[in-house]
Amino acid sequence: MRGQTKPAEFRGEVREFARMLPDGLRHKVMHNLKLEKEDYVAYLKLLEARGWIVGHWPKQYGGCDWTPLQRFIFEEETSEAGAPWLIPFGVNYVGPILYTFGSQAQKDRFLPRIRNSDDWWAQGYSEPGAGSDLAGLRTRAVRDGDHYLVTGQKIWTTYAQWADWIFCLVRTSQEDRPQKGISFLLINMKSSGITIRPIVTMDMCHDVNEVFFDAVRVPVENLVGEEGGGWTYAKVLLSNERVLVAEVGRSTRQLRRLEKMADTTLRGGGPLRGYAPFARRLAELKLRHFVLQSTCYQAVADAMAGSQPGAEASLMKIRGSELQQDIAEAMADALGLAGIVYNAQDLEGMGSAPGIGPFEAPGILKDHLHGRAATIYGGSNEIQRNIIAKLALGL
Ligand SMILES: Cc1cc2nc3c(=O)[nH]c(=O)nc-3n(C[C@H](O)[C@H](O)[C@H](O)COP(=O)(O)OP(=O)(O)OC[C@H]3O[C@@H](n4cnc5c(N)ncnc54)[C@H](O)[C@@H]3O)c2cc1C
Repeated sequence: MRGQTKPAEFRGEVREFARMLPDGLRHKVMHNLKLEKEDYVAYLKLLEARGWIVGHWPKQYGGCDWTPLQRFIFEEETSEAGAPWLIPFGVNYVGPILYTFGSQAQKDRFLPRIRNSDDWWAQGYSEPGAGSDLAGLRTRAVRDGDHYLVTGQKIWTTYAQWADWIFCLVRTSQEDRPQKGISFLLINMKSSGITIRPIVTMDMCHDVNEVFFDAVRVPVENLVGEEGGGWTYAKVLLSNERVLVAEVGRSTRQLRRLEKMADTTLRGGGPLRGYAPFARRLAELKLRHFVLQSTCYQAVADAMAGSQPGAEASLMKIRGSELQQDIAEAMADALGLAGIVYNAQDLEGMGSAPGIGPFEAPGILKDHLHGRAATIYGGSNEIQRNIIAKLALGL
């Protein structure tokens, strides 16, 4: 039976778990320092040991069959407490696609390795010229006996440099509507013909990549579901992605930090909190956070009652990402002059001293710079507004 534990009891269990996070890991997350693959994997292993790595998966696939409320509570509490971002590509994205649409052989082969963090997955959707207009993707998969030959390019592929596998949308047919010729392929990143080129973003960090495929041989058994059915699976995955990017727990954590800065940063002989324009800005952010949190709880209640997320998933993505950016900007502003010096090397250690300002300054600036992407990834906010216009306003 689903959700046997009462929500308050479950929240207590998650808090207890989050209290046990290693201090070094929590310190890095709390101060936006650089996380390595080992940091993320260490967290995934802790979750695995607790039996929660795939809590929202059905029990038959090793999950706990969490209700939408339990899942929300888990994400809220762990992010708030300083747990790393739960890298979604395996546990949240491809795992559910595989147990829903995959063959028995694919389930047997891949699901245990996702649960054990043996495989690191990347998401190969976007291409140059096919981001918002994903159906325009051009990476081709041509059948050659019992293999596909894959040729093309993906871009913005997060952590491809760490990936063992990539799930890709590829074009298997040029006929009919563009959406109909798209298939969902699982590609081993060790295959010959794959080249990864790093993209260093304006926070001077390397998280995203270009991935090139030059006649890469992929066994036909790595096709998920039907050939030409990829668009349907991709849409299911994208709607999961949008609900997750509201990231309320993360905003709660960042707001707390901002409040602390407002109390400890001195301006004109007193704390920043006493400076009316800043106090007003802080109050507005807190109000927006409260409204977002309430909206998310309403959406969770609707999901508990069995309704599918519609326009509200887009609304939460827009409001969540804008809030993250505005909190990060307020923190960067609160740094004052210390906010104009940024050196990504200061993110490497346990908070080495920057040129000027508090030791938290590099992490705050990284968050501000990297966070500009939040209104782009997971479906840009303009596209989310188009979806709301269609679904909610009938335009
Ligand atoms: C940090 C980061 C990580 C990412 N990670 C991944 C990943 O792991 N895997 C992956 O596949 N992709 C990833 N992406 C790609 C991301 O999904 C795309 O960037 C996004 O879908 C936008 O596509 P685009 O960059 O091609 O921009 P475009 O689609 O070219 O859009 C450019 C601008 O035009 C606007 N626009 C486009 N069409 C419309 C329209 N119809 N109406 C109104 N405005 C419109 C957009 O909102 C945007 O402002 C990542 C992106 C970033 C920035």
